[in-house]
Amino acid sequence: MRRRTFLKNATSAGAGGVAAGIAAPALAQGRLEWRLVTTWPKNLPGLGTAPELLAQMIGKASDGRLTVRVFGSGELVPPFEALDAVATGTVEMGHGSPFYWKGRIPAVQFLTTFPFGLLADEQNAWYQHGGGLNLAGDIYRQMGCKFFPCGNTGPQMGGWFNREINAIGDFKGLKMRIPGLGGAVVSAAGGEVVTLPGAEIPSALESGALDAAEWVGPYNDLAFGLYKSARYYYYPGWHEPGSTLDCFINAAVWEKLPSDLQAIVEHACGAVNQMVLSEFNARNGSSLRILLDDHKVQLRRFPDTVLQELGKLSGEVLTDLGSKDPLSRSVLDSLLKFRAEQASWSALAEQSFLEARSLPYTFARPTGN
Ligand code: CA
Repeated sequence: MRRRTFLKNATSAGAGGVAAGIAAPALAQGRLEWRLVTTWPKNLPGLGTAPELLAQMIGKASDGRLTVRVFGSGELVPPFEALDAVATGTVEMGHGSPFYWKGRIPAVQFLTTFPFGLLADEQNAWYQHGGGLNLAGDIYRQMGCKFFPCGNTGPQMGGWFNREINAIGDFKGLKMRIPGLGGAVVSAAGGEVVTLPGAEIPSALESGALDAAEWVGPYNDLAFGLYKSARYYYYPGWHEPGSTLDCFINAAVWEKLPSDLQAIVEHACGAVNQMVLSEFNARNGSSLRILLDDHKVQLRRFPDTVLQELGKLSGEVLTDLGSKDPLSRSVLDSLLKFRAEQASWSALAEQSFLEARSLPYTFARPTGN
């Protein structure tokens, strides 16, 4: 009961207020304890496990000088108030994804991903060597936080559909759960975009309240049982080619942290950034096999003509957003310039290699195995 009251107080205090029930961090013998709030249910595969990994790594690497206690979505603050809770110093640290904070600064949404944007490796290359970290650092500083990329889902799927998509006109009147920039593009194509939390997707598909829904990819979609509620599983995930997750730390708390602990936090975020992507890649492959072999899911590829139209609409949606806000335009300009440079190399190196590896003569396993 006391715990319930505490949580209720903490939640109703909202982002701006310092909840009476949240104790200040324990500080004994030079040891620090930070509280980390997330936008994810605790231990949600791939997403919710990222902050747990981060906390374990920081605790071990610092030999307990800095420990991080993870709270799942709603445990201390509602999920979409996580950044405010960190910015105001209610807690020290948070984990989510940049596009959740677009209500604060619109440009932040482009830091997650964008339609027909960058693959996870390209996105990380932009952050590290394409000016992305500087741009993101400035945006998060304006929100009172220090920023690190801290996980990537890799390419997502196009979504689950109960109608076939053969032409762009098939999006007209389509009731689809697809948030963010992808949703703006589907809306521009005449779709009826519905906002729903992930957990409500299966029943909405079954009742016909939705004709289609995107969630993440095989790993998360299998866990949700989405194959039970929709006929076709479409690809590619044109709208989310590599979604970045974020770690954000209260700016004043970060500045006060000794430099060796700062380095530990920074490198732990870097390690988790890669580990989450590896987890998604590994689990997506095995989950796709289960969806196809055990659940007889029908895969469908969006026709090229549909992808071309979605690409054209994406350009219009992004141009429009950029024209409304100079900071959005500078982030988009940087991303689009990087994509243009990267596209020729990725096509030459990765795309042509993947085509070569898929040719019919390529061996499945070494002889004798
Ligand atoms: Ca998604």
